[in-house]
Amino acid sequence: MSEFREKTSIVDAKVPEGPLANKWSEHKNHVRLVSPGNKRRIDVIVVGTGLAGASAAASLAEMGYNVKSFCFQDSPRRAHSIAAQGGINAAKNYQNDGDSTYRLFYDTIKGGDYRSREANVYRLAEVSASIIDQCVAQGVPFARDYGGLLDNRSFGGVQVSRTFYARGQTGQQLLLGAYSAMSRMIAKGGIKMYNRHEMLDVVLVDGKARGIIARNLQTGEIERHSAHAVVLATGGYGNVFFLSTNAMGSNVTAAWKAHKKGALFANPCFTQIHPTCIPVSGDHQSKLTLMSESLRNDGRIWVPKKKGDTRKPVDIPEEERDYYLERRYPAFGNLVPRDVASRAAKERCDAGYGVGASKMAVYLDFKDAINRMGEDVVASKYGNLFQMYEKITDENPYKTPMRIYPAVHYTMGGLWVDYNLMSNVEGLFVLGEANFSDHGANRLGASALMQGLADGYFVLPYTIGDYLADDIRTGAISTNSSEFDTAEREVKDRLHQLMNNGGTKPVDYYHKKLGKIMWEQCGMSRNAEGLKQAIADINAIREDFWKNVRVPGTEGELNQELEKAGRVADFIELGALMCQDALDRNESCGGHFREEFQTPEGEALRDDDNYAYVAAWQYQGAGMPAKLHKEELHYENIKMVQRSYK
Ligand SMILES: Cc1cc2nc3c(=O)[nH]c(=O)nc-3n(C[C@H](O)[C@H](O)[C@H](O)COP(=O)(O)OP(=O)(O)OC[C@H]3O[C@@H](n4cnc5c(N)ncnc54)[C@H](O)[C@@H]3O)c2cc1C
Repeated sequence: MSEFREKTSIVDAKVPEGPLANKWSEHKNHVRLVSPGNKRRIDVIVVGTGLAGASAAASLAEMGYNVKSFCFQDSPRRAHSIAAQGGINAAKNYQNDGDSTYRLFYDTIKGGDYRSREANVYRLAEVSASIIDQCVAQGVPFARDYGGLLDNRSFGGVQVSRTFYARGQTGQQLLLGAYSAMSRMIAKGGIKMYNRHEMLDVVLVDGKARGIIARNLQTGEIERHSAHAVVLATGGYGNVFFLSTNAMGSNVTAAWKAHKKGALFANPCFTQIHPTCIPVSGDHQSKLTLMSESLRNDGRIWVPKKKGDTRKPVDIPEEERDYYLERRYPAFGNLVPRDVASRAAKERCDAGYGVGASKMAVYLDFKDAINRMGEDVVASKYGNLFQMYEKITDENPYKTPMRIYPAVHYTMGGLWVDYNLMSNVEGLFVLGEANFSDHGANRLGASALMQGLADGYFVLPYTIGDYLADDIRTGAISTNSSEFDTAEREVKDRLHQLMNNGGTKPVDYYHKKLGKIMWEQCGMSRNAEGLKQAIADINAIREDFWKNVRVPGTEGELNQELEKAGRVADFIELGALMCQDALDRNESCGGHFREEFQTPEGEALRDDDNYAYVAAWQYQGAGMPAKLHKEELHYENIKMVQRSYK
C-alpha cells in the first residue's frame, strides 16, 4: 500500500527510515512509478511559474504528464523569481575550501536556528550539485573565472564559497533557463499555459485536491480547471507588511485559500528581514529595494562611533568608525546571517548611531575593496547593483558608502508539507517559498533559489508519482460536480461582495494600516503585549475592510484594484495568524525575536525543551484563533547548540 495512505497524525512528516545520507536514495528506489503510457492519462495543475513552478511544470511535462500551468503575470518569465540577485548555493566544493554535502546541511540547519527538518535539509544539500549541472546544461550563464571555470562567492552564515551567480541577475538567468524548458513543452503540447489567470480557490473532491477555480484577469471570467493533483508554487507572502523587497504582485491568496480548505499553515511568523536594503524614504513608497547580500563579500558595514554624527561619511576618519559586525562577530564579520546582521543594525540605530536624514540607516562601504581590487573589478562583480543604487538614491556608491537598512524580504513560513512535499490535504503539493520546508527560523542567503529548483527539478518529479500511481484508472476529473459548483459560487459571491459593498476607502488604505501594525508589532522584534494588541487591531481592520473598502470598475473586465482587494483581504487574515504564531512561541529563534527572550548580549534565546517543533496551524474561521498542531523536530545527526558566529 502506498505510504500516502498510512497517515497517522495530521502532521506526520513521513520521513523515511534509515541513515540520513541514504534516506533520499532509498526513498527514490522504493516509491511507486507511473508508466509512460499511464502518465499520458494524468493531469497535473501547477500554479506558479517562478523557479519552483516553472521547473516543476517543465519536468512533469517532460516526464509525460499533462500539465496545466497558471500564473497571474502576462508571461511566466515575469514571476518574482526574476528579481533574485545574488546567487544560488551548491555543495560542489569547486573552491576546494572544505565544502561538502554535510557542511551545506549543517550550515543550513544552524542558520535556521534548529527549527527545520533534518531529512529535508540533507536532501536539499544532496541535490544542490545537480541543480548547477542542470542549469549549466540549459545554458544559464553563470559567472566564470578567467580560466573559464564556474566562479563562486560567499553568502552569510558560512565559511566557504559555494554561491554560484550570474552577476546580480541570478534569478533572471535561472528563470530564463526554466522558462525555456517550459516553452519547449508548451510548444510540444505537454504544458497548457494559462497566463493572466489567478487561482482563487482549490477544489477538493472526496478530500483530495482535484482542481482550482481561476479568474481570467483580462476578461474577468471565472473558470474551472480539474486535475489529478494540484501543485502550488505560488511564492512568499512578505507583502503582508505592505513594504517589502518582494515583487508588487507577490501575495498569499493561493496558499491562504488552500489553508481555508484544510491545509495547515506552518511557522507563519518566521519572516526574514534582510539587512541590506535601501532605507525607506517617505510615505509615498510602495516598494523597497534590495541591495544583494553578495555585496557583503566586499562591502564593510559601519556607523560613526560618535552618536548623532552629521559629518559626510567620507569625512569620518577610520579610527572614528565602528565596524560593528567585525567587532561583535570576528569569525564571520560582515557575513553573519541575515537575522543577526539585521538585529545588529537596528540595535545601532535605536542606540542613536544611525546615519542619513532618517537616522535609520548604516553604511555599506566599498572603499577598501576599491583600493584593493580597483574600481573595474568591483564594477565587474556588482556593477548593475551599484547602478540601481545610484538611480534610486542619486548617490554614487563608488565615491560614497551606500546607506542601507533592514527590510522584509522572505517568508520562511508557508503551507506545511511532508517529506514528499505534499500538504496534509491529499493531492495538494506545495513547492518553493510557498511551503515552509527547509529554512527553519532563518534562511541563509542563496538558498531559496536552491530550494525552489530542488523541489521542482529533483524532488516533486519522484514523489508525485507515488501519489499519482493510485490514479491511473481514475480517468479525467469532471468539473461538472457539486464541489466545483460550490467553489465557483463562493468565489463569485466574494468578488461580488467586494465590488458592491458601497464603501469609500481604497484598498491601499487597509494594506498600509495592516503593514504598519505588522512591521511594528510582528517585525524585527516582537513582545507579547504588542502581539495581543496587534491581533485585536487586525481583527478590527478586517471588519472595517469588508464594510468600507471601495473597489472601482466592474468584475467582468481587467480590474487590478479588484485583484488587489482580494489579496489584501487574505493578507489581513494571515496577519492575525502570524501574530498568533509569534505570540505562541515563547522563545526567540532566527528571525523570530521575542524581546522577552534574549541572551545578555542581545542574541536570540531559544527554548529547545518547549519549542523544538514546527507550529502547523489549522484554520477555524475568520477572526477565530487557529488550532495548533505540533510537528516535533528530532535532531539525530546534529547537536542543538546556541548559535554563535563570534
Ligand atoms: C529582491 C530579491 C532578491 C532575491 N535574491 C535571491 C538570491 O540571490 N538567491 C536566493 O536564493 N534567493 C533570493 N531571493 C528569494 C527568491 O527570489 C524567492 O524566494 C524565490 O524566487 C521564490 O520562488 P518561487 O518559485 O517559490 O515563487 P515566485 O517566484 O514568487 O513565483 C510565484 C508564482 O506564483 C504565481 N502565483 C502566485 N499566486 C497565484 C495565484 N493565486 N494564481 C495564479 N498564479 C499565482 C505567480 O504568478 C508566480 O508565477 C530574493 C528575493 C528578492 C525579493
